[in-house]
Amino acid sequence: MAEKQQFKAEIKQLLQILIHSLYQDQDIFLRELVSNASDALTRLNFESLTNPDIFEPDAELAVWMETVNTDEETTLIIKDSGVGMSAEELARNLGTIAQSGAREFLAKLEAGESAPTDIIGQFGVGFYSVFMVADEVRVVSRSYRPGDEAAVWISDGGDSYQIEASDKATRGTEIHIKLKKDAADYATPHKLREVIKKHSDYVNYPIYIDGDQANQQESLWRKKAADVTDEQYHRFYQQMTFDFLEPLAHIHFQTDMPVSLRSLLFIPAKRERNMMSLRKEPGVKLYSNNVLIQEYCADLLPAWLSFVDGVVDSEDLPLNVSRETVQNNRLMRSLAQLLRKRVLRTIRKMAEKESEKFTAFWAEYGRVLKEGIAIDPAAQEEIVPLLHFVSSKSEGAITSVKQYVERMTAEQEHIYYVLADSDTAAANSPHLDPFTAKEWEVLYFTDPVDPFILATWTEFEGKKLQNVEDAEIDLPDTADDEAAPTAASEKAINLFVGRAVTALGERITEARLSKVLKGSPVRLVAPEEGGDSGMARISRMMSDNYEVPKRIFEINGSHPIIVNLAEKLEGESEGAAATADLIIEQLYESALVQEGLHPSPGDMLPRIQKLMEIASAK
Ligand code: ADP
Ligand code: MG
Repeated sequence: MAEKQQFKAEIKQLLQILIHSLYQDQDIFLRELVSNASDALTRLNFESLTNPDIFEPDAELAVWMETVNTDEETTLIIKDSGVGMSAEELARNLGTIAQSGAREFLAKLEAGESAPTDIIGQFGVGFYSVFMVADEVRVVSRSYRPGDEAAVWISDGGDSYQIEASDKATRGTEIHIKLKKDAADYATPHKLREVIKKHSDYVNYPIYIDGDQANQQESLWRKKAADVTDEQYHRFYQQMTFDFLEPLAHIHFQTDMPVSLRSLLFIPAKRERNMMSLRKEPGVKLYSNNVLIQEYCADLLPAWLSFVDGVVDSEDLPLNVSRETVQNNRLMRSLAQLLRKRVLRTIRKMAEKESEKFTAFWAEYGRVLKEGIAIDPAAQEEIVPLLHFVSSKSEGAITSVKQYVERMTAEQEHIYYVLADSDTAAANSPHLDPFTAKEWEVLYFTDPVDPFILATWTEFEGKKLQNVEDAEIDLPDTADDEAAPTAASEKAINLFVGRAVTALGERITEARLSKVLKGSPVRLVAPEEGGDSGMARISRMMSDNYEVPKRIFEINGSHPIIVNLAEKLEGESEGAAATADLIIEQLYESALVQEGLHPSPGDMLPRIQKLMEIASAK
């Protein structure tokens, strides 16, 4: 039984990195071991809900730390009364990399994305971090299964480990850490208390150091909000997630009607979890009266709020629930309803009162909420009031649709938007010409998901959403106007329009003079039939056989480019037709780019070069 076994190659590599690099924060090994002990206790707790056959069923669920300081050795012992491990489990769990975090850590190092010192200081790497402080580690363990025998796993962090039989008489795991000289501090209660306070204060089981409890072990979510400081919320969040960015908001919420509910939720600063996050899946921690019954409960919040993390505790939930009963429970539905309302209210308040925070929130989660509208039309009513966009009058900031409506002028009937690939493209859109002239505000829909939400979202507070590129857009004053006066003769302009029809042929539905263009030479207008630009954009992004949709080619008869070309055509000056064709092609393709409809803008480059040659000719 006592033969040496080799670590898997990847562990050897990890151990080398841990032992030989200059780590900045040795403390994290303690956090990792306490987190493992706490996991083992939670698993035991959960097992005992359904399994009557448990070794030492009445043992206290706790973590104990003891220190040995003699001339020969300084040793720290960390014990727990959790599930424990058999000899096979010791080999499997500690001889191979179980933790996905450690694997990712190695992958990141191999890819050269970070130096080991960058990462180790900030994050944990699971059990093996103990070798940052240990000359030798002995893991003595006895499983909760009554028939299993105790065993000990021994390693000095070299290439191999050893497993032997042990006479441990109690359930759980003991980790004996023979400390390196420069880590001898960890064998003093004072140091241990300090680290526990910092990293493990809210662990759900008592942690005893030489007999005295060192952690608060309180369920912060069960305290009154008035008695909890921001600092405590933040630390609780850190200890739960290992996310070191302060969350954007916490939602501490308790009620007894219609159901008992104690919850503490957080909106993380970033949507992406950091790679060492303790939270590996979406979902909140679900407790029944302080007993954890589900680590990731994704049934309490809709998918478009799944970035919310935290704890939900209800005394009304039965303890031994299966996943299915959790899902189909009437109680769960009413919890879900309460939570959803509360989270939405928090986001709304943030939008109203903390615009800077909300801007950060929107940058991170705006798209998730929009996807909510696309996949869950029933949620539209809740999400739409949260929608924010940059607009032609917002100077780069975001504005809500409600604020837009409040700014609408008396003669303005609709909510106008422009689809574009970026704010700059939107600002330069020729479709904005008449709106700029009338000083009407236009919302910029620049997110790739925006066309999707337009499939189901068509109005706000009784006002219709109107795409500025629609052909028959009804603008007072301009709608009945004749085309703007032109400097060129009617004959010249007609020649130009005719030239455009010939040059662009089947690619457009028609060419005509514009009534609305001011600063832009041309624009593409969606014809009433088959003109959905939103769908065309989606198809350009998603499909391989995208076809450029046909548009009306609208010409600004008073723009210098058009006037000059029209006059050249009329005067039949040399090369006029050829130059006009080149420029018409370019105007058309530039407009496609502008609309986000061009399949491959790079194809325009040879023509642009040609035009530069013409422009620079002596
Ligand atoms: P992780 O905790 O992310 O799974 P670790 O490297 O910290 O990764 O631990 C590896 C595995 O060893 C754990 O998944 C668990 O199965 C086992 N283990 C570690 N510590 C204990 C313990 N105190 N009691 C029971 N099992 C443990
Ligand atoms: Mg761990």
